[in-house]
Amino acid sequence: MEYIKKDVIRTFSGNIEEEIIKDHALKAIGACIQCGTCSGGCPSGRRTALRTRNIIRKALLNMDEVLKDKDIWLCTTCYTCFERCPRSVPITDIIIKIRNLAVRKGNFLESHKQLSHILIETGHGVPLGNADSKWAKLRVSYGLSPLPPTTHMHPEDIQEIAVLVKETKFDKLVGYPPEPKAD
Ligand code: SF4
Ligand code: SF4
Repeated sequence: MEYIKKDVIRTFSGNIEEEIIKDHALKAIGACIQCGTCSGGCPSGRRTALRTRNIIRKALLNMDEVLKDKDIWLCTTCYTCFERCPRSVPITDIIIKIRNLAVRKGNFLESHKQLSHILIETGHGVPLGNADSKWAKLRVSYGLSPLPPTTHMHPEDIQEIAVLVKETKFDKLVGYPPEPKAD
């Protein structure tokens, strides 16, 4: 299977279907017959407004609104829809691609922005804390080092992350550093 390529994600022509089929592995979106099997089996859709078939339809019709649709963030990427689709449409990967395109347009949730700031500062989306934290103790109880061999063990590597963040303009995209709050 071919994976989504970085250079494809970086440029966005504005045509959603065209962007999706640029990825060889995602070309099958055109095979969708709108049967609704994906929506019917979606565990997330049972409890939320996510209607998978509708997301695929909007992408096929090149409807810009799909890039602003907050429902695209309700997918848990469980791949149930892909497993059940009678046309083998790689639905989950398409939703991930739509998310990538949405982020390129600056459409993402406030929680994503906050998590991105933590990632920039610590190298982790969910930092574990120091060597005395309960997570470190839990790791030790399983025979692991207290801290993983990431920026937790090598805090000096956060500088490299800072370079990557600047080079890719990720900081601008997610509004980092945040504006100081007015008193
Ligand atoms: Fe389209 Fe497949 Fe979903 Fe049916 S299950 S609507 S063919 S993506
Ligand atoms: Fe639903 Fe996403 Fe799972 Fe597909 S991958 S069934 S859209 S939660």
